[in-house]
Amino acid sequence: MREVLQVRYGEIFLKGQNRPMFLRMLVERVRGAVQPLGGEVWLSDGRVYISGASDTDEALRRVRKVFGVHSVCRSWEVDKSDFLGLCQKAAELMRGYTGSFKVNARRSDKRFAMDSPTINREVGGYVLEHVPGLTVDVHHPGRVLSVEIRDRAYLYTEPLAAVGGMPVGCNGRATLLLSGGIDSPVAGWMIAKRGVTVSAVHFHSFPYTSERAKEKVLDLARILSESLCGLRVHVVPFTDIQMQIHEKCHADYTTVIMRRYMMRIANAVAEEERALGLVTGESLGQVASQTIEAMRLTDAVAQLPVYRPLIGFDKQEIIDIAQRIGTFETSSLPYEDCCTVFTPRHPATHPRLDIVLQGESRLDGESLITKALQDREIFTL
Ligand code: ATP
Ligand code: MG
Repeated sequence: MREVLQVRYGEIFLKGQNRPMFLRMLVERVRGAVQPLGGEVWLSDGRVYISGASDTDEALRRVRKVFGVHSVCRSWEVDKSDFLGLCQKAAELMRGYTGSFKVNARRSDKRFAMDSPTINREVGGYVLEHVPGLTVDVHHPGRVLSVEIRDRAYLYTEPLAAVGGMPVGCNGRATLLLSGGIDSPVAGWMIAKRGVTVSAVHFHSFPYTSERAKEKVLDLARILSESLCGLRVHVVPFTDIQMQIHEKCHADYTTVIMRRYMMRIANAVAEEERALGLVTGESLGQVASQTIEAMRLTDAVAQLPVYRPLIGFDKQEIIDIAQRIGTFETSSLPYEDCCTVFTPRHPATHPRLDIVLQGESRLDGESLITKALQDREIFTL
């Protein structure tokens, strides 16, 4: 008899022929998450199991954050040929609880002598007789005691919900434009939740933005890297580009032109990273650069599709997720972002392409981009 964590997955079931690949990826991700705690991870009978971790609570905490995991429960693996032993363990699990319960048996090993209704009756009867303060309620039980008869038998009471989604690595690659704000870390987390491997680009305008601002972004990347299974961040110096835009372009257009340069550079980084999409934390109408018109003009310079997981979210909804995933506090530290340092008083909310192109024609675009890419720093977290 031993305690194991039983991990269930959700949507992978929908994947038909690709299912073995998704499962392999999930096992690998679960293994990666609990590896520092030791123990064994294996796939059996449509579930992933973990046993022998040095700290079961910590293993549970980590596994609940692995994308692709739908729920986890602490289970007892018992010898199914020892039915009395199984009943005794069931009683032990229910001891200390008072109120209504029911036994929910599932028998996937059809060679097992008892069918599910019989297991329910036998285990339920034993528990009722040996644990004081219990009643049976099959319709609205206060607690469900599950018995699964598989290769081995498993007993558990409370499955804990996990993050859901799909395992990172099963849905291609994308490059996130990561600022130090609240939104883009959430956007990166959300795209990774759908199984995408994420890399990131951050634009830094030293000395207008401080070393601390850069550190803050790397801290955010560190927080994200646990769920994202590692994160490479390209920190690109952006001061020269911003200065030229500031000097040579119409003040109201500096924001949209700056964002087009961000897109061009992010696109180049994405291609190096073999990514097939760009991701931003934009949400429609949140600020001047996030109108339909402005986003059309920024997308026009990207070769790759731009994904905006937060496009329909209100700020509060984004904050709620940021708090849940642990980025909110760091995002709220007060260091300036390069976007805010150079914000014009009246950014154009309905920018015109001809004015944008006119402004851009005054810049040494190609050489600025090449220089920025050359001078970037790369951090692997
Ligand atoms: P965030 O909270 O993510 O900073 P925001 O509401 O401040 O977003 P903007 O500053 O307009 O909005 O930025 C919109 C998006 O552009 C960000 O979500 C991010 O994807 C990208 N972005 C902004 N600044 C940077 C930067 N310095 N480096 C990389 N990407 C950036
Ligand atoms: Mg920002």
